[in-house]
Amino acid sequence: MSTVFEQPVAMHRRQPSEPAAAPARWTVAAVQALFDLPFPELLHRAQTVHRENFDPTMVEFATLLSIKTGGCPEDCGYCPQAARYHTGVEASKLMEPAEVLEAAQRARDAGATRFCMGAAWRAPKDRDIEKVAELVRTVKALGLETCATLGMLEEGHAQALRDAGLDYYNHNLDSAPDFYGHIITTRDYQDRLDTLARVRDAGVKVCCGGIVGMGESRLQRAGLVAQLANLDPYPESVPINHLVRVQGTPLADQEPLDPFEFVRTVAVARITMPQARVRLSAGRQQMGDAVQALCFLAGANSIFFGEKLLTTGNPDTQADLQLMARLGLRQGQPAAIRGDATSPAAPHCAKP
Ligand code: SF4
Repeated sequence: MSTVFEQPVAMHRRQPSEPAAAPARWTVAAVQALFDLPFPELLHRAQTVHRENFDPTMVEFATLLSIKTGGCPEDCGYCPQAARYHTGVEASKLMEPAEVLEAAQRARDAGATRFCMGAAWRAPKDRDIEKVAELVRTVKALGLETCATLGMLEEGHAQALRDAGLDYYNHNLDSAPDFYGHIITTRDYQDRLDTLARVRDAGVKVCCGGIVGMGESRLQRAGLVAQLANLDPYPESVPINHLVRVQGTPLADQEPLDPFEFVRTVAVARITMPQARVRLSAGRQQMGDAVQALCFLAGANSIFFGEKLLTTGNPDTQADLQLMARLGLRQGQPAAIRGDATSPAAPHCAKP
């Protein structure tokens, strides 16, 4: 695989009436230059891009349910579900459709518009896909957008999930290629890219982001964002996670990241992927309201809503609703003003 420095990105915006422009490219250097901007300048640029593409007061609420917890054979250094770490997470079997239905109904009643189902597998087997497809049908029938994160997909799996009504598949790149090996050794970066390609080829929308605060450098954070923006097209949904330091995992004692650096990551994701839903994901509970408010200013327009993520805590739902009210934000599905990320639109240069 070529290095990240050699993998520029296609820009995906043009006016429908204009001919498709030659793909513009994001290099890691250009992304890092965004990171290096003075904070007010970076936030101004990100907010400008956000307003050009979305109603900036609209925030998507997505709910995440762990449908099969723990016992995972992988060694992701941040993950309490890896069987090899002693984190107190009990392994469980795949949930029954009735249990998932109940959880999805609760999420919908609380205002969630997207329901994500996560299973701690390295890669699901054919029989697992059949069962998850049934769950997708169940959730879809409630009128919710559906998303699943099940690990690496083999040929045919993404199509089966699509046929069941899956809207999004989540598979994160986690970090920059040159840092990835410090965090995960049981599968490589290309495995992740291959699964993302299968998802895209099946016509399922891509949810793909990463985790910051794992000890990577700013250059490596830029490398992650460049990789995401390099996907052609870039993901419709980009979760930006902050490491949650879980006792028993190798990253339990990782030094905390400067919160402004997290906000910068959100801003740079917004600028480089203007029509993606940029989601505040893991780590919100530790962030506090003021940092979250800065993230919304930086262009975040989606959050995970619900008191638990897969296994780690998340802000209480009432606290989230109050924060939305205090900030004058509205809960809903932010629609890209000029189409979606798969529809190229006029290059709108946000590069420095
Ligand atoms: S992140 Fe996913 S693949 Fe990695 S250990 Fe956790 S459950 Fe397994």
